[in-house]
Amino acid sequence: MITILAPAYNEEEVLGLFYTKVCEVTDQIDEDFELLFINDGSTDNTLKILRDLAASDDRVSYVDLSRNYGKEIAMAAGFDHVKGDAVIIMDADLQDPPELIKEMVREWKNGYDDVYAKRRSRKGESAFKRLTSKWYWSLLAKMSYIPVLKDTGDFRLLSRKALEALKQCRESERYTKGMYSVIGFKKKEILFDREERAAGKTKYNLKAMLLHAFHGITSMSVLPLKLAGFFGLILLAIAFITFLVLIIQAILPSMTTEPWGWLLFLILFIGGLQMIFLGIMGEYIGRIFKETKGRPLYFINDYHNGKKFDKRQEQKE
Ligand code: UDP
Ligand code: MG
Repeated sequence: MITILAPAYNEEEVLGLFYTKVCEVTDQIDEDFELLFINDGSTDNTLKILRDLAASDDRVSYVDLSRNYGKEIAMAAGFDHVKGDAVIIMDADLQDPPELIKEMVREWKNGYDDVYAKRRSRKGESAFKRLTSKWYWSLLAKMSYIPVLKDTGDFRLLSRKALEALKQCRESERYTKGMYSVIGFKKKEILFDREERAAGKTKYNLKAMLLHAFHGITSMSVLPLKLAGFFGLILLAIAFITFLVLIIQAILPSMTTEPWGWLLFLILFIGGLQMIFLGIMGEYIGRIFKETKGRPLYFINDYHNGKKFDKRQEQKE
């Protein structure tokens, strides 16, 4: 059985269409499907529509969250309620074309654990959004300690194995796009053209986009914490040069030393030292930051136990 997971926040205009389109595709696939919706504290008729769908179709499940938590947490709530042997995460606005489900299921049967859809193009997005998104992805790629897949969102199929791994990452400040890379497992890329929103409006305005982007960097990279140390080194280098100049001025009788020169040196030197120690503290904080997530040390793909030692274990018992 495969679960289709769709978080929905004020999606009354498009939910019905989403349901129809998804069913059209799943009907062509020889598998059982569960449709799991997460109502993320919608203030419109979303919940009512979900109730009606559930009443008329017993493949439909839904989780109604107590308030609006945002897509990241809504997805996490979804992961906890998936009953299928695999899950396909989709936006409720039909920007992720349901036709891809077929290909995802095929690759899953070929043995892949994470079949992710990569955007070949994006429709209905402003040139501004496209450009900033391009810059953002390349910046993130350079900074993050585990590569985050470019032009890839949450639209993907995860096997039960990958899902269980993801469920063990319980951090509350979530950046799921990075977590798919953290868990590893066999990944397969498929390409698609991102559609325009079928109806309704985007829930991410510029402010939300910026916050999300900042969140991505701070959760995948500790580089900003190290920046202070880097600037400290530059300041110390300038202090050193100032020092040399001052010494030369003091030794050569033909030159006069400005009294503020030493003051300048002191300011640079102390400033640089402070910055370096901030950088060192950043290193420690970065480690605390990683530890507090309490993620598992590793995820196991497969384990083979040597038969011989299996017996020994039994004898002991
Ligand atoms: N969403 C959600 N909670 C939120 C915001 C969005 O569950 O607080 C859902 C939304 O209903 C949609 C998906 O997340 O299914 C993507 O949102 P949207 O289409 O607004 O984002 P965009 O595609 O414009 O980036
Ligand atoms: Mg959308």
